[in-house]
Amino acid sequence: MIPSRAFANRTVAVFGLARTGLGAVRSLVAGGTNVIAWDDDSAARDLGGQEGADIMPWRQWPWEKIAALVLSPGVPLTHPKPHGVVGHANDAKVPVIGDVELFAREIRPDPDAPGKAPVIAITGTNGKSTTTALVGHILKACGFDAQIGGNIGKSVLELAPPGPKTIYVLEMSSFQIDLAPGLKPDVTLLSNLSPDHIDRHGSMDNYAAIKARLLRQTAKDGQVVAGVDDDYSSSIFTQLAAAARNKAIAAAHPVSVGKVLGRGLFVVEGALYDALGGRAVKVMDMAEATHLPGAHNWQNAALAFGAVKPFIADTRQITAAIASFPGLAHRMEDVGHVGKAVFINDSKATNADATAKALGVYPDIFWIAGGKPKEGGIESLAAFFPRIRKAYLIGEAAPLFARTLDGKAPYEISGTLDKAVEAAARDAIAAPAAHPVVLLSPACASYDQFKDFEQRGDAFHDAVAKLPRDMKAAS
Ligand code: ADP
Repeated sequence: MIPSRAFANRTVAVFGLARTGLGAVRSLVAGGTNVIAWDDDSAARDLGGQEGADIMPWRQWPWEKIAALVLSPGVPLTHPKPHGVVGHANDAKVPVIGDVELFAREIRPDPDAPGKAPVIAITGTNGKSTTTALVGHILKACGFDAQIGGNIGKSVLELAPPGPKTIYVLEMSSFQIDLAPGLKPDVTLLSNLSPDHIDRHGSMDNYAAIKARLLRQTAKDGQVVAGVDDDYSSSIFTQLAAAARNKAIAAAHPVSVGKVLGRGLFVVEGALYDALGGRAVKVMDMAEATHLPGAHNWQNAALAFGAVKPFIADTRQITAAIASFPGLAHRMEDVGHVGKAVFINDSKATNADATAKALGVYPDIFWIAGGKPKEGGIESLAAFFPRIRKAYLIGEAAPLFARTLDGKAPYEISGTLDKAVEAAARDAIAAPAAHPVVLLSPACASYDQFKDFEQRGDAFHDAVAKLPRDMKAAS
């Protein structure tokens, strides 16, 4: 745990006592801060009390004594409207920050001086977790003490304090960026931008502006690597590149065959090229990275390569580590085979853009989709419908998706995941295709039927495990 001393001997209020809030309480208390805290949930309050916070309903907080409000990223800061506690803090002119801001003040208290350990920050709409895990994997394989956290795994203040080989690798959501104006990463990565969480940010422009802010916050001599394959990221890249002074700005071009051969990283015909120094050098065939399938994962690999390059001189060490990356659960994860059918768990694909990546990889798809629908539904996936042998629709989105698929791809409304797996398995095994894939890539949030995408993916895994192994004979 990293003790937070920025507010030692003063009072800080913590609102929200889930993972990040509790981490903040523990760290603030360890740093000698008086902490008052609240959560609407009584079990969470008990945990906060056990960590040493003074539990008090937020409407009774003594604002004149409070030096800062630490807000959980799940609590609305601006949209749809600020939570009441934010309004009170604003009226009392108390700064509203997140746990990442406390981390930043501890690890890099002087923005113009080097930090106590380098920080690599990763943001974007899709690919953050994969890229974060990949960067961590490469650094560890090359002998660094990679401390991986933020929006993935541990909260930032739960990470180990800096040692001589420490590099912090932080996945940053837009909510966390909003609450961390003082974070100055040494390397910042932006994967891509597409509409997501618009309810919480008001508009796509505002969402994109928040992501861009983190890139602008990059330390003076730091490095930015941005994906440029969508209009929003590409325009952010162009603006940053024009304004760059000491910062090294590089573009990651995963699929732009021969389009840009300038400074940057790109994948041409399945091979990763490093042109960070101006001259393009082929560094690896992406087919070697068996757990990073598809052009979207090549984007993640290009970004990770750019992130670690300042720390690792031997390119072969980097590419060997990319090749040995074991992949992440719930992201195009191979969870089993029955007969010739392969079952792929892509439960993390909670929006159409993420699902598009999986649909682009396989030719004969028995597609399980649905859940809590997102704005725009699956209209944008029409180009992939010819690959869909049949769709099995679940959850609230089923009628909506059925209307979009009608006349374009066969479908049935399965309702539940268990029924969908059974039906898709039966059809896939009996299909003429040589390599049929039963793909759970829902293009929806999970919380109409599941707690989260992990629970949904685990349920898929269990349903596949329960299928009779001799299904082929039965069909
Ligand atoms: P995040 O943490 O940003 O949600 P993940 O790495 O967990 O990203 O991947 C989420 C989903 O997005 C997965 O379904 C994955 O297949 C897809 N995905 C991963 N990387 C990319 C990318 N670079 N571009 C678009 N989609 C991606």
